[in-house]
Amino acid sequence: MLRSLGGPEVLVPEEVPEPSMAPDEVLVEVGAVGVTYHDVVQRNGTMRRHTKLPLILGYEIAGTVQAVGVAVTTLRPGDRICTKAFRSCGLCRLCRNGMETACARRVAVHGGYAERVALAEEVCVRVPEEVPLEVACMLGPSTGVALNAVRDVGGVRLGETVLVTGASGGVGLSTVQIARLSGARVVATTRSEAKRAALTEAGAHHVLVAADGEDFSKAVKALAPDGVQVVVDTVGSRVFTPAFKALAVGGRYVMVGQLFREEISINPAFVFFQRARILGVGSVRRDQLEDSVALAASGQVRPLVARRMPLEEAAAAHALVERGELVGRVVLVP
Ligand SMILES: [Zn+2]
Repeated sequence: MLRSLGGPEVLVPEEVPEPSMAPDEVLVEVGAVGVTYHDVVQRNGTMRRHTKLPLILGYEIAGTVQAVGVAVTTLRPGDRICTKAFRSCGLCRLCRNGMETACARRVAVHGGYAERVALAEEVCVRVPEEVPLEVACMLGPSTGVALNAVRDVGGVRLGETVLVTGASGGVGLSTVQIARLSGARVVATTRSEAKRAALTEAGAHHVLVAADGEDFSKAVKALAPDGVQVVVDTVGSRVFTPAFKALAVGGRYVMVGQLFREEISINPAFVFFQRARILGVGSVRRDQLEDSVALAASGQVRPLVARRMPLEEAAAAHALVERGELVGRVVLVP
């Protein structure tokens, strides 16, 4: 239970009452929960939205349904599920037009750092036996977001070149895999030489190692002289300038992440000189999560578990994620 914001040490295990279940919710025994950078920035106070204390973190959840509320129609006890990041109303104009992730009545999923959690039926998608729960937990907010970015927002097509920034992160790694699967030539950036092999393994054709703030646009242009058709940016402010410079005329700049509380500046003329499109990706829809589960079940997408740790070691897991040395997800197992 997060009672105050701060370093990893604020995550202290404690006994809490059994979660209560509303009629449209299911009670889930947590099998695995991903430790995301989003969890880290919620804990340390960088990301204040949807952070109301006290809070049990954890929204990348996979587990087994133990009980269902009286209004639940699609899930039964024993079903294995994974989650998307937000519950949405299903009724409003945005929900009815493929933008359920921006629903004004959306509620952030949380509570995964626990043995049991009550979850709305609407946020849960069934997972087949062949997908382990520690993999399934990543299929929504990591793989599903990557699918949203590459396929639906970025519209990546066979033969295009895609630049993925922060490629060794949870969303980044899935983005590399899905862009490769889509028939694109994939250029991946990372801050660490040690991650090169893992990115090549994930499907990157080219890996560029660049420090924060370093101008890697020339290196990209050396590989793709006309620039890249699509940038999928999971880092934000610290790579925006070089990544935008690497864009081809008419390219799409897909914004997925912003890891630091900084602003960017851009001369608007560059947007129209380049005929650029700047596009925002927000989270993962239910249908995208279903597709992501199917891609994992067929082995086409393989989310990478970097390390499994017991739930009691949540603080150590946060420290590990914050150091950013691993490729793939740190997963807590209650
Ligand atoms: Zn809605």
